[in-house]
Amino acid sequence: MEYSFCPKCGGALESKVLKAFEPTRLVCSRCRFVFFLDPKVAAGALFKLDGSIVLLQRGIEPSYGKWVFPGGYVDRGETVEGAAIREVKEEVNLDIKLVSLLNVYSYAKSPVVVVVFTAEIVGGKLRAGDEALAVRAFNPREIPWSELAFPSTFEALAAYVRKEFNLDVDLSDFSSAYL
Ligand SMILES: [Zn+2]
Repeated sequence: MEYSFCPKCGGALESKVLKAFEPTRLVCSRCRFVFFLDPKVAAGALFKLDGSIVLLQRGIEPSYGKWVFPGGYVDRGETVEGAAIREVKEEVNLDIKLVSLLNVYSYAKSPVVVVVFTAEIVGGKLRAGDEALAVRAFNPREIPWSELAFPSTFEALAAYVRKEFNLDVDLSDFSSAYL
């Protein structure tokens, strides 16, 4: 169990079946509060700098040292689009304009739902934020496919290079490497 105590009253949480065919829920043994373990929403963006794709090397866990496009968790009270723009500014110091929704990625084993946009740079200068070891713009043929941070990184980049560069990525290693 990920959580032991009720966030409202501090009572002990119990795992209970509330409705048949639904997952067990964490229920407070004292006040009956149901602690739903909702997904977390993350937003990110793919865009080009002088024809190359901007990725950053993660300086924090999970996936320390692996490459990913800029992105991060959406705050409550913030739009998904706003989060994507904010994260790009924080992580690589670029101002972007969103162009389109690339796709939404989710996996049964992960609580994170990743919303990925395509974008264009409208300002700023490429520079690593404090959570990145490095930032780099990759030629689409030089993307480090075996050193990407998350399954969504792989899938979104594959979709992006297909769409923007008409390049087909071999997806055969994807499942064994990332799922
Ligand atoms: Zn409680």
